[in-house]
Amino acid sequence: MPSSAASTQPTTWRSDELVTAENPVGLQTYECWFCPLKCLGFSALLYHLEQGFCVKRYRIRTLAFEGPQRGLYGTKPRHTNAFFCFNCGNHFPEVSWLFQHAEKVPACSHLLNADECLGRLRAFYINYYDCPGMDFTQS
Ligand SMILES: [Zn+2]
Ligand SMILES: [Zn+2]
Repeated sequence: MPSSAASTQPTTWRSDELVTAENPVGLQTYECWFCPLKCLGFSALLYHLEQGFCVKRYRIRTLAFEGPQRGLYGTKPRHTNAFFCFNCGNHFPEVSWLFQHAEKVPACSHLLNADECLGRLRAFYINYYDCPGMDFTQS
């Protein structure tokens, strides 16, 4: 049962207006900053960017270690499973996996709220790519 406390929380990562059969947890749609692709959920956008089509390969990964709360979700860039869930401790090889974990596992989803580590990392990426600079691979 949804608790009534939800209405008192600050900006949350998901929108209840978007809940449908195809989108059961109300993920936001994100448009790639560099191509017309629309992604359901921030993890899908990160996954797309990690493939190296629109930004330099590994840039999403290295940027994560420049984020404001990197100690709360990352170990060392060189590690194979360099990203972890602050809530449950599971480790993941790429940032997109960690975001997808938080989008899929209700117990860990609060980390996506604006004032939590993954919410802040999401804001960091969005601010960063407002000005793509050297990462833009198209010539
Ligand atoms: Zn793209
Ligand atoms: Zn977790």
